[in-house]
Amino acid sequence: MKKYLEKIPEELQGLINKVHNTAVRKNTEAYLVGGFVRDLILGVKNLDLDIVIEGDGLKFAQDFADSLGVKVTLHRQFGTATVFARSGLKIDFSSSRREHYPSPAHLPLVEEGSLRDDLFRRDFTLNAMAIGLKDGRLVDYYGGLDDLRHKVIRVLHPLSFIDDPTRIFRAVRFEQRYDFKIEPRSLQLLKEALRLGLLERIHPHRTRTDLILILKEKDPIKEIKRIEKLAGFDFILPQLKISPKTYAFLKAIKREISYFHKNYTERRPLDTWVIYLIGLLDVLEAKKIKKICAKFGLRKGEKKRLLSYKRFQGRFIADLSRASIKPARIFGLLEPLSYETILALRAKYNNPVFKRNITDFLDIYNGMRISVSGNDLAGLGVLPGPRYRKIFTQVLKAKLNSQVRNKEEELALIKQLLRKGLPTLTARQASGRQGVD
Ligand code: ATP
Repeated sequence: MKKYLEKIPEELQGLINKVHNTAVRKNTEAYLVGGFVRDLILGVKNLDLDIVIEGDGLKFAQDFADSLGVKVTLHRQFGTATVFARSGLKIDFSSSRREHYPSPAHLPLVEEGSLRDDLFRRDFTLNAMAIGLKDGRLVDYYGGLDDLRHKVIRVLHPLSFIDDPTRIFRAVRFEQRYDFKIEPRSLQLLKEALRLGLLERIHPHRTRTDLILILKEKDPIKEIKRIEKLAGFDFILPQLKISPKTYAFLKAIKREISYFHKNYTERRPLDTWVIYLIGLLDVLEAKKIKKICAKFGLRKGEKKRLLSYKRFQGRFIADLSRASIKPARIFGLLEPLSYETILALRAKYNNPVFKRNITDFLDIYNGMRISVSGNDLAGLGVLPGPRYRKIFTQVLKAKLNSQVRNKEEELALIKQLLRKGLPTLTARQASGRQGVD
């Protein structure tokens, strides 16, 4: 009975024991459910703990959090609660519930239910198992274990994809992630839901969540291929077609992401899904991309990264493809861009000089700062004002082009600039946006 509990990663065992202790104190039972159970059986690491309580899950979460002396966040409208342990781990709690769907593709109505009801409302049999913390027994009403063994994705009832068409995306995601197969009858039901045009009926914000999850998978190209074959991408924008060229670009993106992960381990984590989305939407013009951002409610920073890729064209590409380009120009072109945009560009243009210049930027110029400060300028008698920015820009440009190497040389350059009277910068250069070359 305890064999599954023994497989639980060590860092989670203490926390799970404490959940069980709360259950004993409250004379109830707590169950691990969903993806955590699936991955435990498969031997795949998963630290996302989901606990269902037959009874009041919110009150349970509150008592559990009190026993740990930590805070709980309650999501009353969903009947769920999240407890963040001191170790940084989190546990989601919910009361067992029953759902029904008043109309296709809309959110369900929820009411109290048994554990059996709670497992029945889930997407696939492999996600509809539970483990009781009392004795570690597997609760498997719907044949999930068998389906895991046979590597199949199976819905729990014929209306599943109609009730919630986001399960179409989820089916593809699990199928491709684990190298499983959507079981034939389920596949037939999935195709029927597609024929009914149900993907287009999902609220775009829910579609966005699932699309992002797909693009965050380890190798999303597999998922993209499967979706293209099953449904196409009209649900993003009618007539969005992807071609062999798109796939070649997506593969190049994959290579650039691993290049970045290998070489720049200390930089901020990448939003890899944004880069794949740039690849997926590459055939579209900027106007259409803006429309997609609005429809799916993408955030400002996400939209900015998609569009800055689109706008980086013509002269900028030509300049970056020149071996003789000055470092200050490379800096001016690339510093305002995100890593996501830069890697998409590096994937797109297969020109060795262009790539070399981007590598130089990442290796040397990115984040380059000068040593002199406002205090140093004040010390030289320069009154604070717009001149400061002009002087700093000149010094940075000189530093990038290796004309000054340390603070002493920076100060010497400033004195020289002050003696000569400062050259006027164009408004663009002063803003630092498009190059200080
Ligand atoms: P992942 O490994 O990608 O995080 P997961 O299965 O843990 O996958 P979650 O989205 O965290 O995914 O969902 C947790 C559980 O909630 C699922 O295992 C499933 O039982 C249930 N679930 C999630 N989304 C749906 C859905 N659209 N329809 C029915 N059940 C769902």
